[in-house]
Amino acid sequence: MKLDLKNSLSLKLLRVVLLSALIVGVVLSLAQIVFDVYKTRQAVANDAHRILGMFRDPSTQAVYSLDREMGMQVIEGLFQHESVRMATIGHPNEPMLAEKSREKVDIPTRWLTDPILGKEQNFSTQLVGRGPYSEYYGDLSITLDTAPYGESFVTNSVIIFISGVLRALAMSLVLYLVYHLLLTKPLSKIIEHLSNINPDRPSEHKLPMLKGNEKNELGLWINTANQLLCSIERNTNLRREAENSLLRMAQYDFLTGLPNRQQLQQQLDQILGDSGRLQRRVAVLCVGLDDFKGINEQFSYQTGDQLLLALSDRLRSHSGRLGALARLGGDQFVLVQAGIEQPYEAAELAQSVLDDLDNPFMLDQQQVRLRATIGITLFPEDGDTTEKLLQKAEQTMTLAKSRSRNRYQFYIASVDSEMRRRRELEKDLRDALALNQLHLVYQPQIDYRDHSVVGVEALLRWQHPEHGSVPPDLFIPLAEQNGSIIPIGEWILDQTCRQLREWHDQGFTELRMAVNLSTVQLHHAELPRVVNNLMQVYRLPRRSLELEVTETGLMEDINTAAQHLLSLRRSGALIAIDDFGTGYSSLSYLKSLPLDKIKIDKSFVQDLLDDEDDATIVRAIIQLGKSLGMQVIAEGVETVAQEAYIIAQGCNEGQGYLYSKPLPPRELTAYLKQARRLNSTSTANPATL
Ligand code: C2E
Ligand code: MG
Ligand code: MG
Repeated sequence: MKLDLKNSLSLKLLRVVLLSALIVGVVLSLAQIVFDVYKTRQAVANDAHRILGMFRDPSTQAVYSLDREMGMQVIEGLFQHESVRMATIGHPNEPMLAEKSREKVDIPTRWLTDPILGKEQNFSTQLVGRGPYSEYYGDLSITLDTAPYGESFVTNSVIIFISGVLRALAMSLVLYLVYHLLLTKPLSKIIEHLSNINPDRPSEHKLPMLKGNEKNELGLWINTANQLLCSIERNTNLRREAENSLLRMAQYDFLTGLPNRQQLQQQLDQILGDSGRLQRRVAVLCVGLDDFKGINEQFSYQTGDQLLLALSDRLRSHSGRLGALARLGGDQFVLVQAGIEQPYEAAELAQSVLDDLDNPFMLDQQQVRLRATIGITLFPEDGDTTEKLLQKAEQTMTLAKSRSRNRYQFYIASVDSEMRRRRELEKDLRDALALNQLHLVYQPQIDYRDHSVVGVEALLRWQHPEHGSVPPDLFIPLAEQNGSIIPIGEWILDQTCRQLREWHDQGFTELRMAVNLSTVQLHHAELPRVVNNLMQVYRLPRRSLELEVTETGLMEDINTAAQHLLSLRRSGALIAIDDFGTGYSSLSYLKSLPLDKIKIDKSFVQDLLDDEDDATIVRAIIQLGKSLGMQVIAEGVETVAQEAYIIAQGCNEGQGYLYSKPLPPRELTAYLKQARRLNSTSTANPATL
């Protein structure tokens, strides 16, 4: 902000002082002039009396002796005074003895002085003889012209007036300069500094002390203003801190520091928006503590608080898998799992939270156990908004608590029961091997050159004590998840190699054993060593063991997969690619991988006669295998017509119910024997068995 000079206080002061000094000057000058008028009148009278006094005696003398000449001499003497305009000597009742007059003096100030002093003034004195009789002889009269007196009066007055005005002017100027130097200038400096102050950080630029003003009002003003700026900044900081902590309090739980419901809603909104775009699932897990009230009562509320803190730390340990973690208040927490593919991932998380709680909490050297019940909702199945998902998750949790505790439950009953079954199966699967519930069946593979059985594929079976036979499509993914596929896989390899040795010993020396490998197994570093070892232990010829891998498993990390396959091949195994055509892989990778065989997925084989597309795919796969120098085997061959078609297309081998269902070893031995017998006597189709 710039100060406009015409508004400056010093100028205003100048105006006021000037005006008042002028008025005072004029008034005082006028008073002096009035006094001068009085003094001038006095001077006229005094002069008149002095003159009359001086000429009284000669005049008396002239009147007494009636000497006209002498009278005229006296009058001439009187006229030496320039202001005497008329003079007479004589008795009032007789003709004047002597008299004289002259014109008024021509003085330019007369017009001004005549009204003030009068044009002229008359004075007279009686001419009286000496005592003792003191006889009266007549009068001496003079008329004085006032103009000569007026002239000096005017000159004086003008001087008085002008000097009065000049004094006023000089005084105002001095005052103006003093005020300007002492106040306006330092104030302008202060204003300039004030306008540079940052309102957010007012104490950053303090007002500088002006030299020479340290102890006066300005110095005091600057110090006080600086103190004020500091306290404004302090207050602003305090207010900001208060606002921040209010915001924190509004969005975070006071005890655990976790986001509260409001913050969770914002986070979940965001997660749902992202997941909706990416078409991914989200799971909302509402964790409610079982009987937390009881714990509070049994111990103390402080212990309860400590427990909640410890619990929130444990929940935080899952944060790697979480999109959000919040405390809804009381004994309820929410975990949000974003970007999941299958509901079981949520089930796993829920279970790991429950497992986590199995470890007791140590509080004040006491062991405290916590149990929780978890309600789970899934996006988009159970709701597409934050409110719905949270509300249903809480509902599910409460409902689950009312049934039994320490467990999780999905909102949708079907998902829930499936998850429950999965969970139970997974648990049972850990013991299945030890409990001898697993066994292998073998399905023959037919060489189309002579319809002989060239190989068998080992397929795993699980005989569950309650659920009966569990399909491998269901339990193998479970085994992959909980890691039990590694011991199970090793057991399968051992079983199959031993079985192959047995069949070789029985004379089926050309027989090949195909074993399915899970992706988890394939990436297990020990696998090539295990395979190598088994082939040596059971003295299996090279290329008698075929390992089936799936496209999806290979594509995850093609370089590592290629290395693993190479080392498996070095151990003497053949590599087949299973379920070919069902993945999303590009064909180019086929060239870069060390593969011996392609297995056409049964879904194409089964429909190839009705579905032109499937037939095209089957033809294309066979062609591809041929051109890459790989064997091609069709799986799921169920009818003679399917067989005829694939043979016509040049498929090398086939496998399917047309030849045999997967059989237990003993039955397969019988099958092999019969096939050999038939094959050696005729070219009969083993499918007729
Ligand atoms: P896969 O390796 O593609 O096995 C072929 C599946 O097709 C087997 O199902 C078999 O019984 C079935 N099959 C054979 N011929 C026909 C037919 O003509 N018609 C029909 N509809 N199906 C036929 P299974 O035994 O239920 O195995 C399913 C999948 O489980 C296997 O697919 C394989 O991926 C996996 N699996 C089975 N055993 C093992 C194993 O020991 N280890 C591993 N890692 N996976 C295995
Ligand atoms: Mg297979
Ligand atoms: Mg298959």
